[in-house]
Amino acid sequence: MWTRKRLDIGWTDIAAGRLACASRWDRQQAVAKLQHVWPIGDSTEHNPETPRVIPTLSVRSGLHLLLGQLDWPAGSEILMSAMTIPDMARIVRHHNYVPVPVDLDLDTAAPTLQSLQHSVTKNTRGLILAHLLGTRIPLAEILDFTNAHRIDILEDCAQAFAGDDWTGSPGCLASMFSFGTTKTATALGGGLVAIRHEQLADRVRDAQRQWPVQSRLGYAFQLAKSLALKTLAYRPPFAAFRLACRLLRLDYNRLLNNAVRGFPGDRFVSRISRAPSAPLLHLLRRRISNFDQKQLARRTQLGRRLRRGTECHVDLFGHSGCDHTYWVFPVVARDPNRLIAALAQAGFDATQGNSMEIVDAPDGRPDTAVVIRRTFRRIVYLPLYPGMPDSAIERMAQVVRETESPAD
Ligand SMILES: *Cc1c(COP(=O)(O)O)cnc(C)c1O
Repeated sequence: MWTRKRLDIGWTDIAAGRLACASRWDRQQAVAKLQHVWPIGDSTEHNPETPRVIPTLSVRSGLHLLLGQLDWPAGSEILMSAMTIPDMARIVRHHNYVPVPVDLDLDTAAPTLQSLQHSVTKNTRGLILAHLLGTRIPLAEILDFTNAHRIDILEDCAQAFAGDDWTGSPGCLASMFSFGTTKTATALGGGLVAIRHEQLADRVRDAQRQWPVQSRLGYAFQLAKSLALKTLAYRPPFAAFRLACRLLRLDYNRLLNNAVRGFPGDRFVSRISRAPSAPLLHLLRRRISNFDQKQLARRTQLGRRLRRGTECHVDLFGHSGCDHTYWVFPVVARDPNRLIAALAQAGFDATQGNSMEIVDAPDGRPDTAVVIRRTFRRIVYLPLYPGMPDSAIERMAQVVRETESPAD
């Protein structure tokens, strides 16, 4: 069985992380080194347009910091790409702002201008714009819109990291990158927030200094867990795992999805209010400076192949997004369970996933994300990663065609 996902980290990276847990203590130095490798760097010139880069424990921690330092009036509205991880809207609400979902174009996974116009009110102050699935949204039109309405953009690049190819969009107040467990070039945690406003960056940095540092032991445990998850992504261990789950009557689907979720459980806000530890900063730097463009190119190539093999027979989501690197490959199935079963039969572990949601509209307001909310239930993610051979992709496309073609 081809598992749904392989962690995008090498054995030697994990080993380097474990070593760093025992040997790296100087956070100041680790931050400086990290800022040095991140392509836009931490400029010492006093140009307010130059982004300041602040490493964080996660994108969620970064958003929590940013919203804590933006002094918008309580009750201000923040437009959000409607599809995102549930915690993002939760953090917005925690800061007494109102998340307002913005509908997405199914072909590009980008908010349409029309949906932005529908969702904006006189209380709108921000837009959390998510570049989803591995695509990158062209911003010209959106920036015209936000400038006209005096809205600041916080750019969520968690799914769109592509090495030094791209470091966020000028014109956005902040750009946030994630190196969480499921993300491209993961460091088993960690985020980078580039802020294009000097005073705001200073305030965010000072606020983070007040936070306790992530526990090294906790991070060492994350690294150990990643060894297990990595092993499971190979076919014989995965088959054994599925069998064991069946014997023990455990839902392997739920187990796997929960294993890669950061910050589970209660006390969520205090869990994200931590600064990254020295070993995490060290591994983050290693992942960024050794970034493997070849692997990313391979993933992109497989994604295009799978798209060519399926697009005439099934609705895809976001397939015509720009610069698509196929972090994931979602299909809009006619009957998700049937497609998942057919793929499982053929040896492909497709899943509906449970890490994303559609942001709720504020109480008493009409839904401003009708299209994506309706479609969301039908989305199935196909397995896709550089380790898969072309032949597996072709076979998977064939199963999708056979199951989804209206002709059958
Ligand atoms: C993963 C993800 C996040 C959160 O990233 P963390 O670094 O794990 O907090 C935010 N937004 C989107 C769209 C994501 O996919």
